[in-house]
Amino acid sequence: MQPIIDRFISYVTIDTESDSKSATTPSTQKQWDLANLLVTELKTIGMQDVTISDKAYIMATLPSNVEHEVPTIGFISHFDTSPDFSGANVKPQIIRDYDGNDIVLNAAQNIVLSPNYFKDLLQYKGQTLITTDGTTLLGADDKAGITEIVTAMEYLINHPEIKHGEIKVGFTPDEEIGRGAHHFDVAQFGAEWAYTMDGSQVGELEYENFNAAGATITFKGKSVHPGYAKGKMINSLLIANDFINALPKKGIPQETKGYDGFFHVHHLAGTIEETVLELIIRDHSKLKFEKRKELISKITAKINKKYSKQFGEDIVIAVVEDQYYNMKEKVTPVKHIVDIAAKAMKEVNVKPIIKPIRGGTDGCQLSYMGLPCPNIFAGGHNFHGKYEYVPVESMQKAVEVIVKIAELTALPNYGLPVPKAKK
Ligand SMILES: [Zn+2]
Repeated sequence: MQPIIDRFISYVTIDTESDSKSATTPSTQKQWDLANLLVTELKTIGMQDVTISDKAYIMATLPSNVEHEVPTIGFISHFDTSPDFSGANVKPQIIRDYDGNDIVLNAAQNIVLSPNYFKDLLQYKGQTLITTDGTTLLGADDKAGITEIVTAMEYLINHPEIKHGEIKVGFTPDEEIGRGAHHFDVAQFGAEWAYTMDGSQVGELEYENFNAAGATITFKGKSVHPGYAKGKMINSLLIANDFINALPKKGIPQETKGYDGFFHVHHLAGTIEETVLELIIRDHSKLKFEKRKELISKITAKINKKYSKQFGEDIVIAVVEDQYYNMKEKVTPVKHIVDIAAKAMKEVNVKPIIKPIRGGTDGCQLSYMGLPCPNIFAGGHNFHGKYEYVPVESMQKAVEVIVKIAELTALPNYGLPVPKAKK
């Protein structure tokens, strides 16, 4: 267990916070610090063809050790951390044999990680937890994933009796600002399919995510002295308000879960003359996603119809842009890649928890770039904040899952039951 802890700590103590306001890739220079270390480490453990691009994308190969043909598969994670919370001077704390009580992260600032609030903690009683000191995030998202992939590759290199095909490893910058897949060279990677090791609790296996779009809606108004405004003023603030009221009341993030979609108004600013409303649209169902976009057009048209005579032109302009799509469409035709991961988990005594992601992953973008890419747990909880923690046992299980997936992929029919021939 100690080598995993040491490796993980060597990564999280390097600040790799990404920055959405930066136009460069990687978005922050400091991401190179960990990237360069990872290149050296991959070479040291014996990986082949270790490359790093001018944008800090790392790729490496573990050659096949069998004669027969096996599909090339890949494992991917990201080394940046979220700009939502500081990732500088991370001081990990190790809680051995966790007793199920409150964990004081920072006595001076009275910051406590409590199972009364974070109930998930209780399933890790008796395990070893790595937490923050309450002043930073931890960076288990996704340095746990990197730890697991490197450890699994090292294990396979040291255990040549485990038979596997060619395995590719990919580490990316800037996932947390939505750009992790942007400069990922799928052709160079050369895998038939891959897995991001970027999920949360042990057992998570995800291959469905939202279809996503963002809308910017501009309302134009007419400012007139309020004392003499009758029949003349058009207050764009009030029209934006009408627009919001025309959206479904219950279909908002705080009222939805599972497969429910939503509209989420996240920015509203304006004056009488002009108001800009920004919202995002999310739905797992492609059909409902399209319907939601249609609703935006319908409300826009309705308001325009009402005011067009008075104003002389359209007063509402809606610009809707698709952001990403549900990877299910790309993964379902190759469903065995999910079945292999589920079987691998069961074989190492992890119960697969298959559920839809209420967001997107790098894997969903990669799936649409030709690399089907479900997401597997990396083990951490409470990402992007000071309560982030990871049980070492969960990381250990993720290592075992990676090794088992490599092993199953080299078996006839991937070790999956062959469907019975119809009579
Ligand atoms: Zn992540």
